[in-house]
Amino acid sequence: MAAELLINVTPSETRVAYLDNGILQEIHIEREAKRGIVGNIYKGRVSRVLPGMQAAFVDIGLDKSAFLHASDIVPHTECVAGEEQKKFPIKNISELVRPGQDLMVQVVKDPLGTKGARLTTDITLPSRYLVFMPGASHVGVSQRIESDAERTRLKQAVSQYCDEQGGFIIRTAAEGISDNELARDAAFLKRLWAKVEKRKKRHQTRIKLYGEIALAARVLRDFVEAPLDHIRIDSRETYERLVEFTTEYVPELTAKLEHYSAKQPIFDLFDVENEIQRAMDRKVTLKSGGYLIIDQTEAMTTVDINTGAFVGHRNLEETIFNTNIEATQVIARQLRLRNLGGIIIIDFIDMNNEEHRRRVLHTLESAMSKDRVKSSINGFSSLGLVEMTRKRTRESLEHILCGKCPACQGRGTMKTAETVCYEIMREIVRVHHSYDSDSYLVYASPKVCETLKNEEAHALAEVEIFVGKQVKVQVEPLYTQEQFDVVLM
Ligand SMILES: [Zn+2]
Repeated sequence: MAAELLINVTPSETRVAYLDNGILQEIHIEREAKRGIVGNIYKGRVSRVLPGMQAAFVDIGLDKSAFLHASDIVPHTECVAGEEQKKFPIKNISELVRPGQDLMVQVVKDPLGTKGARLTTDITLPSRYLVFMPGASHVGVSQRIESDAERTRLKQAVSQYCDEQGGFIIRTAAEGISDNELARDAAFLKRLWAKVEKRKKRHQTRIKLYGEIALAARVLRDFVEAPLDHIRIDSRETYERLVEFTTEYVPELTAKLEHYSAKQPIFDLFDVENEIQRAMDRKVTLKSGGYLIIDQTEAMTTVDINTGAFVGHRNLEETIFNTNIEATQVIARQLRLRNLGGIIIIDFIDMNNEEHRRRVLHTLESAMSKDRVKSSINGFSSLGLVEMTRKRTRESLEHILCGKCPACQGRGTMKTAETVCYEIMREIVRVHHSYDSDSYLVYASPKVCETLKNEEAHALAEVEIFVGKQVKVQVEPLYTQEQFDVVLM
């Protein structure tokens, strides 16, 4: 058994699991509601030209007309006559387009509320490493690739695929990628573009020529280089579409596609569903008895390694070393599974032995080398922390699946019931000084009410005596522990 993909499809969500020897390594999730139409290419028809706004409405077959501003009409597209356009400021919209004209356009902004989509004629087709620019004649390199040598290599590798069809932009993700893979990507984009052109010629106007390929297809394209044995899909329809897609773009994968029709949910195979749940936990247990705590903040991710129960001082150094070694494997897998990117700080259990430190670092490096996302490890800092970076690619699993906790506002801790009780009593005194009332009614969470009636009953009675009014307590089951209201009766 080697590597395989499991694809789980429901109408609102597609999830792809990548397993290596039966162990879940990566999870990709896309939700229908989030996708939008940005990037889609349409053959549209100009319905109105608005000279005052320097814009035009274009019917692309959706409910609302889309909006095209004169500044988003680029010189090399078909709608603009003549080359002289380039050197002059933006032309008047009425000279650029006319009502009834057909136009190839791409969506740059989703429709929102009463506003239609925003369009450009500057069409680009992105892929993993490259962006194809139809009509352009050059190769650009992402500014974020800093090495001059690498920029030159990439430019040389990609230039040969540049022709009258168009040029390319080399994306940051292309850094360190082999010529072969770049060639495959370039060929993929040109085939895609040829298909768009063919559709444009064959079809009437107001039609979608290209939509951002669905998750399953995109993931397949990204896995071309991986040594996959099986790709199992639990939807007959998606399976058929993927057969079509791979036949056209990645024929080496077609024979590996299988429709999964068993009763058992596909993500119950290899315990994938439970693994996803566990990838949301802060704590990850190690077989040796130790555990990791993984915390993701906006600035960085921290991983803290802890030994389990005390094992006696004779073997302590050896135990620490073995726990750290086991942790390197688990960390590499968790970073990939959770798709954590950016700065990562690892706090291994302190090791005095220099050789132990060297071996832990080496094991971490070799574990990280299996990751398809690039990372770099900086070694132990003077504080004994290992600092590393992992390229940010998609959103992290947690960001896709979770939102801020409403009880603690994302802090991870909550005021105790006792603290909230004291806040309530201070609030009663404050209200007493400002307003006149006969009695007070406190709404609070069940736990806080219970505390007010038991441990804090005495303190509450003193407050009643101080303000000279009765205080009633009422449970509000929907309140979080920090929420309360003091009502004047
Ligand atoms: Zn919380």
